[in-house]
Amino acid sequence: MGSSGTPTHCPYCALQCGMNLAPGAGGTVEVRERADFPVNRGVLCGKGRTAPTVLSPSVRPASPLVRSAGGALVPASWEEALERVAEGLGRTRAEYGADAAVVSRRGRAVAPARITAAIRPDTVFMPFHWAGEGRANTLTHPALDPASRMPEFKVCAVRVEAVAP
Ligand code: SF4
Repeated sequence: MGSSGTPTHCPYCALQCGMNLAPGAGGTVEVRERADFPVNRGVLCGKGRTAPTVLSPSVRPASPLVRSAGGALVPASWEEALERVAEGLGRTRAEYGADAAVVSRRGRAVAPARITAAIRPDTVFMPFHWAGEGRANTLTHPALDPASRMPEFKVCAVRVEAVAP
């Protein structure tokens, strides 16, 4: 990895690691080291290093993909894909029940809840893509890291409460 190119950031996660992008062979885009950026100092994880691969139309889905009965991803119409999503949400709600409230020193967010053995037993995971009463950023602190200027939106202490139906 050389260090020349146009300085920018990896788009994938909240660390926003610094990287340089430069033209590569055959019209491709190459990721190069950006050692001056304080968060990652030139080091990138696998997602960052391979970020330009999604710029190629050949690796991008041209339609929604749904699982076939055999488990393979197959192209589908938007109607079919959205119908599958609605069915899945209905099944999840029927299986796991009502919403839960997640409460921190800063706020309260209400969202569908599921108990799982897939993460540490002392951990609550909440996606941060929702607005309204399920907005995870109402729980966390927006203070900026003094070096990277990234807000502290990723972790905080919480308790979980049942929500009356
Ligand atoms: S390189 Fe990896 S750690 Fe850095 S922003 Fe991208 S995904 Fe996040």
